[in-house]
Amino acid sequence: EAKLDLVTKSIKHFPDFPSKGILFRDICPILKDPGALTAVIDLFEEHVRQTHPQVELIVGLDARGFLFGPLLAQRLGVGFVLVRKKGKLPGPTVSVAYKLEYGEAAVEVQEDAVAPGEKVLLIDDLLATGGTMYAACELMKKQNAEVMGCMVVIELKELNGVEKLKPNTLFSLVQY
Ligand code: 5GP
Repeated sequence: EAKLDLVTKSIKHFPDFPSKGILFRDICPILKDPGALTAVIDLFEEHVRQTHPQVELIVGLDARGFLFGPLLAQRLGVGFVLVRKKGKLPGPTVSVAYKLEYGEAAVEVQEDAVAPGEKVLLIDDLLATGGTMYAACELMKKQNAEVMGCMVVIELKELNGVEKLKPNTLFSLVQY
């Protein structure tokens, strides 16, 4: 499809970033090209309208989920909520800790951001090991939200994040 082609062509690849042996997938050129950015949002919107038309809230992950999430939420006529790294949000918050390669991190949301039973879809730029997205799903469940699914622009297949995410489901536009 032409839209997907436009998205794929706009992803750049940087070997050895941020450390040796890592091939970093860069989504910045998508944002620089209004046609490519529109294509991303069009493809997400089509997916949501076909599979999750009941969605009530888009939940974006720190930080690049914030670039796509609000645009999609506006298209769908629903709200957008930020899941942030620990310590960034004011007021009462709830958090979920998760393991990194070295050490631990936590994701956080404002306590009143999601209502019990609310139907949410999570969005980020990329799924690698799935650890971040899984923690965000757990955070939503802690708030008694109904997680309908997860969405990313890019899925790194070899890291098998989709297994880690289960029973939550993943929709991705581009796979490597
Ligand atoms: P995971 O928790 O799935 O291992 O890592 C996913 C998180 O790390 C996402 O929030 C994503 O933004 C970031 N990330 C990891 N690798 C890359 C990459 O190659 N490109 C981009 N754009 N983000 C990455």
